[in-house]
Amino acid sequence: MSTNHNRLAILIAIGAICGFMAAYFIGKPMQSVGWIGDLFLNLLKMMVVPLVFFSITSGITYIGDIRRLGKTGTLTFVYYMLTTAISVTVGLILVNIIKPGKYIKGTADGEIVEVAKKQIDISDIILSFISDNIVDSMAKMEMLPIIIFSLLFGAALTTVDVGKQVTNTISTLNETMLKMVMWVMELAPIGIFALVAAKFAEAGSIAALTKSLGIYMITVILGLAIHGGIILPLFLKFSSKKILKYFSDVSPALITAFSTASSSATLPLTLECVTKEAKVKQDSALFVLPVGATINMDGTALYEAVAALFIAQAYGVELSITQQIVIFLTATLAAIGAAGIPQAGLVTMVIVLKAVNLPLEGISLILAVDWLLDRFRTTINVWGDTVGAAVVEKVTHTSKQNV
Ligand code: ASP
Repeated sequence: MSTNHNRLAILIAIGAICGFMAAYFIGKPMQSVGWIGDLFLNLLKMMVVPLVFFSITSGITYIGDIRRLGKTGTLTFVYYMLTTAISVTVGLILVNIIKPGKYIKGTADGEIVEVAKKQIDISDIILSFISDNIVDSMAKMEMLPIIIFSLLFGAALTTVDVGKQVTNTISTLNETMLKMVMWVMELAPIGIFALVAAKFAEAGSIAALTKSLGIYMITVILGLAIHGGIILPLFLKFSSKKILKYFSDVSPALITAFSTASSSATLPLTLECVTKEAKVKQDSALFVLPVGATINMDGTALYEAVAALFIAQAYGVELSITQQIVIFLTATLAAIGAAGIPQAGLVTMVIVLKAVNLPLEGISLILAVDWLLDRFRTTINVWGDTVGAAVVEKVTHTSKQNV
């Protein structure tokens, strides 16, 4: 790890810790630094659309032979599905053992949460893959259509005659974007300090949470810790990376994920850390990470399953094994459908609740702590993407050598 990166990683960690302390000791007045955090967040978000376009396009052209794209794509997909399924299973097991919802009685206070009114169906998720206007999607930062467009664009580029010249240009533009990210990273310690300080000051005392919500939070955080601390490192063992070193290389991205609660806003740093610090080859990273930031959300999937069961328990609804399998499937899908933005998972939760006929008002039970859990799950989402890049790199390159 370069000394500069080392220095920055430490400064970012100090920024986050000071942010917590400032919120704790100074309290509400710290909300006034929120705009500095927003400024940092906007700088990151500004990079996301061009970065996704250039990194996916140049990732595809690195892969070159379209048949190998199929291989990398299949492998990436298998990794995403497998890890997401495991993480939902961990969540389901924990919530069935701990039963956090039994501590509250079904108290639908009638307050129907705005988000819950929004009808979301599975067909909506599938439709959201394609946009009728890519410029409009870019303006709205709708990542799925941008990914599909970039994949098609990159694939087409490898088949046209003058493609080679354009390929070089795109790879230069991608490097340029990463350079801009490096500049923004210099501001990360201050930006992260402000984001953490303002948000925690606004939320007030976490200790004031009720017992059941506290136990619900512990269930989610424990599940995320098991997935991030045991399961994902086991996957990482398949790559040639050393677990602790890899973790430290990508730690600035993880802290940023925690501070921003957005996989998409973190993507610039994720790409930078994985390719520049952890030295994962571009052909894997440039494909796996941007796609992962949008569809691979292990943390979100786990949370959706735990939250749905928590709501069921709170309302005294016994869910059969079949219903839990439905939750397993819909939580996976809801995580894929959730955008990489703050609290997107809360919105797609509607799919899970509706699938097993749980009251949508149940969302109001978990609303108070969602902003905090969002940070933990986003960190695991990003950690899952970075591990995926290393695993896909290892498998594709080993099999290439064996050919
Ligand atoms: N905030 C999460 C992310 O960006 C999505 C969610 O679970 O709400 O990865």
